[in-house]
Amino acid sequence: MRELRVTTLRGGETTLQNTVLADLKAHCRGPVLLPGDDGYDTTRQLWNGMLDKRPALIARCTGVADVLACVNFARPHNVLVAVRGGDHSVAGNASCHGGLMLDLSLMKSVRVDPVKQTARAGGGSRWGDFDHETQTFGLATTGGINSDTGIAGLTLGGGLGWLAGKYGLACDNLLSADVVTADGRLLTASATENQDLFWGLRGGSGNFGVVTSFEYQLHRVDLVLAGMVVYPFERAKEVLRFYSNFSTTIPDEVNTMGALLTTPEGLRVAAIAVCYNGALAEGEKILRPLREFGPPLADQISPMPYTALQSMMDPTFPRGRQYYWKASLMNHISDEAINIMIEHFSAVPSPHTLMGFQQLGNAANRVSGDATAFSHRDALYDFLMLSAWEDSAEAERNVQWTRALDNAIQPCLHGGIYVNAFTEDSKQGLRDAYRPETYARLVALKNKYDPTNFFRINPNIQPTV
Ligand SMILES: Cc1cc2nc3c(=O)[nH]c(=O)nc-3n(C[C@H](O)[C@H](O)[C@H](O)COP(=O)(O)OP(=O)(O)OC[C@H]3O[C@@H](n4cnc5c(N)ncnc54)[C@H](O)[C@@H]3O)c2cc1C
Repeated sequence: MRELRVTTLRGGETTLQNTVLADLKAHCRGPVLLPGDDGYDTTRQLWNGMLDKRPALIARCTGVADVLACVNFARPHNVLVAVRGGDHSVAGNASCHGGLMLDLSLMKSVRVDPVKQTARAGGGSRWGDFDHETQTFGLATTGGINSDTGIAGLTLGGGLGWLAGKYGLACDNLLSADVVTADGRLLTASATENQDLFWGLRGGSGNFGVVTSFEYQLHRVDLVLAGMVVYPFERAKEVLRFYSNFSTTIPDEVNTMGALLTTPEGLRVAAIAVCYNGALAEGEKILRPLREFGPPLADQISPMPYTALQSMMDPTFPRGRQYYWKASLMNHISDEAINIMIEHFSAVPSPHTLMGFQQLGNAANRVSGDATAFSHRDALYDFLMLSAWEDSAEAERNVQWTRALDNAIQPCLHGGIYVNAFTEDSKQGLRDAYRPETYARLVALKNKYDPTNFFRINPNIQPTV
């Protein structure tokens, strides 16, 4: 077995003796991969093809025991650790250069209790895994709009989704979580156990430990009335104004997105996507104004299984493409914002890029700002500028275009940022992801559960001890 140079927590390097590595391997049921090993290169790939991170070792954990072995190996040797859930973060926080990638992607079993209407899912599950199991019983909970996104990162940051108007964010449906902490303990966090940690897990991102499993409240979700209505780009101003009105006057059963994008045929369009989760006949009535505000180029709204809706956007965000984004929370869509969007989208450099609004949702907005660490409950939308392109030589042009749009639209924003949209390059600081009192509470929690900042490859809350 080889000696290994690894990156330390503070960014230096250390050499691990063969015996240390042998010991880690002996304690792990899953494979531990080093550069050159079979599977190392495919396993280290992240969803965002713009990133090329090379961990010194990848531990493919199969359960809590492997996670504990990794944490207990990394801590005494000061090894830098990145935790991988669905590896879908644009920032690439699922991996690191030279450290240990603690890979949970084999931990994706989902156990549904159809009687209690709950589900417990492994920390490496993606929403496609989760919805597949829960929908077999006609159940679901709020999850991301892309089946490839991990349940872990999404829930730990908050979790917007189609069902949030009725059931709140993903984190509002979290009942409990099993967490391996930096000091190598396995804790359960819930409304009755380790309540402070439970509060922090619902919006505080991956700062407090490795969540090995999540337990969610489920709800009955049958066919949904959902899809997209597409209008010519020339009518974008009217469409986005209509979207602004429509999205603020809907019942809890509806959630919406409004966007400027390019169709696969190369046509720039303005589009509104909706999900109505309730009695279909009532949904037809509620969505009628959207369908009669026309004539649209295409009206794809129809009754569909929830799993079909959950994978509807998958072709728009394929794994391995180059991605760069800016995002901000918004609580009002002004004419000024609409004009800036249209002006910039008229010169968009890539047909894969989109910009638009994801609505938080009525029930999500009704939760008190101090109930969970996700505290911007007054924001109505997450405004996304998601640039995507194929050729790495096009990176500079696309990044510059995104930054220019972000600069121009700043005066129209709420000032806050959704922590799951935060990158090192964000104009906002990490504090803007929280209300001031929430941030102070998160620092206190970090001091208690991770005083050495062992979990630092994330939107990082620095301990002060
Ligand atoms: C195309 C696209 C669509 C999206 N759609 C939505 C959406 O509909 N709603 C929404 O709210 N957000 C959405 N997001 C944002 C998404 O929530 C974040 O990117 C989220 O971080 C992804 O989680 P992940 O587990 O896949 O990512 P990862 O990259 O694996 O992890 C993200 C962060 O969480 C940490 N982490 C992962 N797993 C664990 C764990 N088990 N325990 C502790 N820490 C962990 C990681 O260390 C990292 O810091 C979208 C993003 C993209 C790019």
